[in-house]
Amino acid sequence: MTVKKTCDFAVIGAGVFGAWTAHFLRQSGASVTLIDAYGPANGRASSSGETRIIRMGYGPDELYTRWSGRSLVLWREFFARIGVDLFRPTGVLWLSSETDPYTAGMFGVLTRAGVKHEKLTAADVRKRWPQMSFADVSCAMFEHESGVLLARRAVQELVRYAVSSGTDYLSATALLPQPRGKLREIQLANGDAISAGQFIFACGPWLPKIFPGIVGDRIFPTRQEVFFLGTPSGDDSFRSPKMPAWLHHTHPDRPYALPNIEERGFKIAFDRHGPEFDPDSSDRVVGQPSIERLRAYLKQHVPALQNAPVIETRVCQYENTWNGDFLIDRHPEAENVWLIGGGSGHGFKHGPAVGEYVSARLLRNAPAEPRFSLDSKQADRKRAIY
Ligand SMILES: Cc1cc2nc3c(=O)[nH]c(=O)nc-3n(C[C@H](O)[C@H](O)[C@H](O)COP(=O)(O)OP(=O)(O)OC[C@H]3O[C@@H](n4cnc5c(N)ncnc54)[C@H](O)[C@@H]3O)c2cc1C
Repeated sequence: MTVKKTCDFAVIGAGVFGAWTAHFLRQSGASVTLIDAYGPANGRASSSGETRIIRMGYGPDELYTRWSGRSLVLWREFFARIGVDLFRPTGVLWLSSETDPYTAGMFGVLTRAGVKHEKLTAADVRKRWPQMSFADVSCAMFEHESGVLLARRAVQELVRYAVSSGTDYLSATALLPQPRGKLREIQLANGDAISAGQFIFACGPWLPKIFPGIVGDRIFPTRQEVFFLGTPSGDDSFRSPKMPAWLHHTHPDRPYALPNIEERGFKIAFDRHGPEFDPDSSDRVVGQPSIERLRAYLKQHVPALQNAPVIETRVCQYENTWNGDFLIDRHPEAENVWLIGGGSGHGFKHGPAVGEYVSARLLRNAPAEPRFSLDSKQADRKRAIY
């Protein structure tokens, strides 16, 4: 029998953006239905990783530094409310060079934003973190109060909390809507239908498939590989506090690493964009050439782990906009349909700020940030925000 549900807001996608959006909308007293095809922070979703870095540094970009700071406050409030702390204050280390304009801009922004940070020389880095070796690094910046979120669990806890606060959660696939004017309802693959006042599609890397004509060439998902390495027994030099999360900013492949958290091993990945990727059907197996590239990097920069066993790999996708700015805007042909996504490899930390912003736009018609508009998204690729 077909079931038809009615609510104020239907949020499609229970990744970090959709979950926080549903949470804030529900907190306002509105009726909210949250729908996900594969489950909150499922293995195909961009939000599914074990861990995500939360950092304040965004080069000269004040907007994302401000959002990151606001989000960390909201993450911590949420963890305090549920009595489960999923933030690990490992600190975050930027490994850079004196001549890098991104890093130079970052110091000023962090100072203005009141973010506790410390400028370090190459000698400081060598002394404090002797387990790493960076000949190309001439200066560094350490964010003392930043760290790592246990990402998948955080989203799942948030959805659990949203449900306990009255959000209706459905495990179902929303079929492609063809909105014109005002969308009355969406059909689900199981035959049910949801009618709502507003529809929020927070479908991350699926947005180009759901709205091919509008988003098809404005968000491009890329394959990103992640490696976990086994550290030697009894050796604590790859866990906090001896190792922070770090970003090797001077390296062209932009490697980043996280300390061993919850015994999963030392995590390392390359932030450069990989090949095109389909979040539904692309395979998620890492090949030997990737492992060899990783070992070559480790040999130079983390020599103690150059032969460490790869104990786990993950393949995830970034959902990139042309420059890395998020997409948060109304559908151009449907007044009550919203498109939320374009996390571009750096969105997780901002989940709370995204949810707060979207709910303020929807509930109070709060002013729009032009950088998030659909119009600002181009089809060419000039990554600037990461
Ligand atoms: C390897 C990797 C490392 C990263 N590292 C960091 C980091 O250190 N720090 C950081 O801040 N960010 C990081 N990011 C980026 C961050 O994880 C993403 O920007 C963020 O998770 C995007 O969340 P989202 O909610 O937009 O998308 P998703 O998490 O992908 O959620 C979209 C959801 O929509 C659902 N869906 C899709 N289509 C439908 C449909 N038709 N019907 C119903 N449901 C549907 C999907 O099942 C999915 O659950 C990283 C990303 C990757 C891949």
